[in-house]
Amino acid sequence: MDKSTADSRSNRAAVQATNDDASASKLSCVKKGYIKDDYVHLFVRRPVRRAPIINRGYFARWATFRKFLNMFLNSETGSSNGGHVKKQILSLGAGFDTTYFQLQDEGKAPHLYVELDFKEVTTKKATIIETSGKLREKISETASICREKGEVISDNYKLLPIDLRDIESLNDIIVAHMDPSLPTFIIAECVLIYLDPDSSRAIVEWASRTFSTSVFFLYEQILPHDAFGQQMIRNLESRGCGLLGIYDTPTLLAKEKLFLDQGWQRAVAWDMLKIYTSFIEPRERQRIERLELFDEFEEWYMLQEHYCVTIAINDAMGMFEDYGFPKDQPVTTTSTALSP
Ligand code: SAH
Repeated sequence: MDKSTADSRSNRAAVQATNDDASASKLSCVKKGYIKDDYVHLFVRRPVRRAPIINRGYFARWATFRKFLNMFLNSETGSSNGGHVKKQILSLGAGFDTTYFQLQDEGKAPHLYVELDFKEVTTKKATIIETSGKLREKISETASICREKGEVISDNYKLLPIDLRDIESLNDIIVAHMDPSLPTFIIAECVLIYLDPDSSRAIVEWASRTFSTSVFFLYEQILPHDAFGQQMIRNLESRGCGLLGIYDTPTLLAKEKLFLDQGWQRAVAWDMLKIYTSFIEPRERQRIERLELFDEFEEWYMLQEHYCVTIAINDAMGMFEDYGFPKDQPVTTTSTALSP
């Protein structure tokens, strides 16, 4: 499928609008006490209150992401320099995500944080960063912010415009702005699934070839074939966003294979139901389950089964031996896993 056909099925503006949705949902979670994010409100024009099931789903997504990110930031090499090594984060289709600003507050910001998105989105984000004192003070004073180009370039944080399907430009940008030999955490949250399968594969292959010590965090939909999956696809298509990639990687195994076939050393995918019950910290789960009245259990299980996280690893420096989902999980029976 050529790009213009892909664009017409998955309308560029509609896909960009999913970013506004994500920000509004994160803000809804913040207001209810699910997650802490002191910055997301700066990116939301019309705050909305989401249903408890949506809040819980976003919490699960955020908690999983932060757990893997922290694991990466805490990973050390076995080398003689005490294991400390500069690290970087690359966020593909970052939208209005505020993780960089949160990490600054937490004293955990890595050597470099790079965010990529369509120019329409990076222009808006650059404008908001430039005009908000609270965001502006988190990037160095010498930063150059250019609204017209949709760019923020500073020592530790870069926001750059790109169409991710253009691998040559993607590579040029990374070579110009990052050091691919450093350990890198690559984020693709609800991004690749909107691309045609050839483009997603090309990005996954390019990332593997480029970053020899890296973790790829992929969060997106699965299971297009059942009734719930069909409804999920129809809902998004009615807004103009086709999930162009979902039939190419419809299962957990297919997500793992996507990475393994493109050169990644290891890849493991879990669905969000398993992650919610067996990976997110039990104490955190108990805390958020008290926040709102919740009775949509049947729908919750189905929703969580239709999203997954894939962790792929390249480990040239030998930092990630123990990295990933816990191994040898005892098999939980469906009844205990699902009991509310
Ligand atoms: N990752 C963020 C935003 C998700 S919304 C989060 O989880 O909150 C999806 C984002 O991917 C949008 O901002 C959209 O503009 C971006 N995107 C989709 N296709 C893209 C492409 N081909 N090139 C660059 N960005 C893209």
